[in-house]
Amino acid sequence: MQDWISLGYLLSAALFIFGLKKLGHPRTAPFGNQLGALGMLVAVVTTILQMGLGDGIEWVLIGAGLVIGSLIGLWMAIRVEMTGMPELVALFNRFGGAASALVALSEVWRYMEDSSNVPTDQLEITVIMVAAGLSALVGWMTLTGSLLAMFKLKGGVSIFGKWIKTPTWGPVWLNPVKVMMVVGVAVLIYLSIDAPTDENYLWGIIGISSLLGIVLVLPIGGADMPVVVSLLTSLSVLSAAFSGFIIGNSVLIVAGSLVGASGLILTFIMCKAMNRTLPDVLFKSFGGSGEKESLTRTKVGSDPDEVAMMLDGAQKVIIVPGYGMAVSQCQHQVKEFADLIAEKYDTEVKYAIHPVAGRMPGHMNVLLAEANVPYEQLIEMDEINPEFPDCDVALVIGANDTTNPAARSGEGPLAGMPIIDADAARTVVIVKRSLSVGYAGVDNDLFYMDKTMMLFGDGKAMMTGLNNAIKES
Ligand code: NDP
Repeated sequence: MQDWISLGYLLSAALFIFGLKKLGHPRTAPFGNQLGALGMLVAVVTTILQMGLGDGIEWVLIGAGLVIGSLIGLWMAIRVEMTGMPELVALFNRFGGAASALVALSEVWRYMEDSSNVPTDQLEITVIMVAAGLSALVGWMTLTGSLLAMFKLKGGVSIFGKWIKTPTWGPVWLNPVKVMMVVGVAVLIYLSIDAPTDENYLWGIIGISSLLGIVLVLPIGGADMPVVVSLLTSLSVLSAAFSGFIIGNSVLIVAGSLVGASGLILTFIMCKAMNRTLPDVLFKSFGGSGEKESLTRTKVGSDPDEVAMMLDGAQKVIIVPGYGMAVSQCQHQVKEFADLIAEKYDTEVKYAIHPVAGRMPGHMNVLLAEANVPYEQLIEMDEINPEFPDCDVALVIGANDTTNPAARSGEGPLAGMPIIDADAARTVVIVKRSLSVGYAGVDNDLFYMDKTMMLFGDGKAMMTGLNNAIKES
């Protein structure tokens, strides 16, 4: 039987590896996702089989946990709005991290209940207590940090019906405090090795780590949030890997390390996209005050007929999607627009994809893939930017920060972030409801340029209007 269990774990680890490999390209990503899910199913069944070999298993408790957890997950997944997906996925990940961290606590409780459960081998107990401490550190830090990040993504938190803005606050003296907290956790882990039956050390680690998560995320805002979101995701999974060491489960170690490492790679890709280093994001508080700039300028809007007339004769159009496309769910109308002008005016159409457009990594790719936009037309920022000077029209749909020339200056929340060079196109058309600022709260000069036409309105309504105007022209 033990051989079958080892084989089950090996199979699930292999499925995770192949799944991750397939996730590397949008075309193969859905299959990669299915492989990963299959790997998880094999891991769960194998673990249940392994538990079946032991005594005193509380099957009713486990079954009830599975049913209640699945029902809550299903209810949340059905209720969530498409624009709330990033927050929901983040929340699910963090609960996973917190669950792994609870494993550490339960192990110490097991030792307290019966000291004969404590391993006699000193190396073994050292590994377990270090893993328990690290799991508690990473799990609780990511849970509180992520909850704060979630409220920042929402723009604030509602308490007793009153909407309170989540602050962005990080004086320089907070940095040594963060370092001292990490050192404090390291000391508690060291002390816990000699006292595996004393739960107080773990409670101390949990308390400091929970606070650390908050002080780490509090100063971060504006354009740096994507980096912190992906870092927290990868850390929460690493917590599962540490739990694997505590309970001696190899598949947890393998899966946790694989997913945690890929999350870290994504974090560095995001850092590169934002022109930041990870220490800069965590310690320099680039995000600004979190206050939105007040707008003083005005701009007269255009209408779809005017834009349709201007498009007649355009040889090259680059579509720049952003968060507003996700909010209005107009990706199908965008695809229809691209097909229409390609057919009617023989226009070449491409899409410019900024790495942090939207509210989660790959947000635009997912939406456009859902509308069956060919992958070859989705071009990464660095590759598409040199094409803008030869482009007749840049059609910006609900993108703001990712096209804001203010990022080229050395100041403000967007400072240094590479942007889509939409302002280099001959004409710019921007679809959004007003002149209001984007996520980072910075006014956008692109709206006020002479060559810019503003189509004020909801993305879906405006794109439908534009498509109708093209059909009738
Ligand atoms: P922005 O958030 O900068 O701007 C989106 C714009 O969409 C708004 O200005 C809004 O203007 C417009 N909009 C909203 N609803 C609609 C609608 N129904 N129809 C039309 N327009 C609408 O978007 P970007 O994608 O350019 O930038 C993403 C920002 O989010 C960056 O600052 C990034 O750092 C941050 N971020 C990204 C994450 C990621 O992983 N991708 C994670 C966390 C943060 P109006 O109200 O006038 O319509």
